[in-house]
Amino acid sequence: MHRGERPMTLTYKGESVTFNMPGWYCDECDEGIHTGKDMKISDRMLNRLKARKEGLLEAKEIRRIRKKLGLSQEIAGRLIGGGRRAFQKYESEDLLPSRAVISTLILLDRDPAGLKELKKRQQSANTEEAA
Ligand SMILES: [Zn+2]
Repeated sequence: MHRGERPMTLTYKGESVTFNMPGWYCDECDEGIHTGKDMKISDRMLNRLKARKEGLLEAKEIRRIRKKLGLSQEIAGRLIGGGRRAFQKYESEDLLPSRAVISTLILLDRDPAGLKELKKRQQSANTEEAA
């Protein structure tokens, strides 16, 4: 077996994507073995395909909106949802955001002033926690 890349096609609800899949491949047949790191590549491609097919935001759109709002990944996860590490995962296609997170991002993209409301609520929640 040799380390290499071969084309792999994934299909989700009738839509397909083909990409170069890294792995250990047999020299004589189509057999291949994939490490956990290799599988991350195909998991991400599948997430991208699902996002596209389900009309969710793609990772680069999520990143664009977060930056437009001037939020770090950590703060975005706290204010908008998903938790501290969520946006890092959304933006690297390791995790698909919930539709609620997507909807909030779409609305904030259109009207960034809405962010003030979320911050206010977060602040009063923190104050109560501290009291
Ligand atoms: Zn073989």
